[in-house]
Amino acid sequence: MKKHNFSAGPCILPESVLEKASQAVIDFNNNNLSLIEISHRSKPFVDVMDKAQALALELLGLENKGYKALFLQGGASTQFLMSAYNLLQNKAAYLNTGTWSTKAIKEAKLFGEIIEVASSKDRNFNYIPKGYNIPVDVDYFHCTSNNTIFGTQMKEFPAFDGVVVCDMSSDIFSRQLDFTKFGLIYAGAQKNMGPAGTTLVVVREDILGKVERAIPSMLDYQVHIGKDSMFNTPPVFPVYTSMLTLEWLKELGGIQFIEEVNNKKAKLMYEEIDRNPLFTGFAAVEDRSTMNATFNLVDDAHKERFDSMWKEANINGLNGHRSVGGYRASMYNALPLYSVQALVDVMQELERTA
Ligand SMILES: *Cc1c(COP(=O)(O)O)cnc(C)c1O
Repeated sequence: MKKHNFSAGPCILPESVLEKASQAVIDFNNNNLSLIEISHRSKPFVDVMDKAQALALELLGLENKGYKALFLQGGASTQFLMSAYNLLQNKAAYLNTGTWSTKAIKEAKLFGEIIEVASSKDRNFNYIPKGYNIPVDVDYFHCTSNNTIFGTQMKEFPAFDGVVVCDMSSDIFSRQLDFTKFGLIYAGAQKNMGPAGTTLVVVREDILGKVERAIPSMLDYQVHIGKDSMFNTPPVFPVYTSMLTLEWLKELGGIQFIEEVNNKKAKLMYEEIDRNPLFTGFAAVEDRSTMNATFNLVDDAHKERFDSMWKEANINGLNGHRSVGGYRASMYNALPLYSVQALVDVMQELERTA
């Protein structure tokens, strides 16, 4: 039986997607060739890329609004520097909500002045700062919508008229937002969309071409737009699998549908964390992520038993990140509600038998 997979990333993908993707590796489109051995410039693969890009824009409600979708390589980590390379002329504002924001700030500092408008480092990033000011004269404001490691999520975004850049690696396609408020969105595929190896970038074209520096071709969004994500050989398997996941999501009813499911899973999880006297949540209640629930045992004496119980219950990937400790239940789009129920059952069993 397939394990209940709470892995933070690479993450669980829908079974139907895994089946179609593995079939395509053997024989793609009944053509007696594998997806990964045909030319990326052949029509069958160009169709895949076109469809993946169109589905991404459609699901986000960004068709015909001046946005382009790109499937690039180098992970979200390359976007930390690529976004600054392309957009940072003088100074930019960054909200520091965790490990990934901190890394984005470090890279951006190579390109200009960085103003850290607020940080939640004082409490090990267990909350989202609020009430900060963003200077009007910055080139852009950068934030991380969901903090995968600490289990916090931005529920609101600051009113800012300039360009907003957002790392949505771990909650893209999980909830409805007004995506037109963002100039640039990036997301590593392996959290909520596909296998590792491609990064979705959605960019409003009119924000590009404004910096004076020369940009190396591979790091220039305009170059990739000009070549429809085919400037060099794209990662064909991750792009195809991402396309399958986006198709799966569209058929289910899109973000609107999955958001309801995600809210149900998060409610079940957090209600148990709050109810069960053996456990305590890590993130501030109002900032809790619907994707990654972080929690601890109140008394570490139960650790050995709890760990063997959830492993026995066919659960995978529950250990917290080393910078937080404890546990992290990642509940990405493809995780079924019954997997959360399986975990809740184990937590209740521990309570009964402790
Ligand atoms: C995982 C993650 C990253 C890093 O992604 P890579 O693709 O491994 O570079 C960046 N930001 C967030 C929010 C993440 O969860």
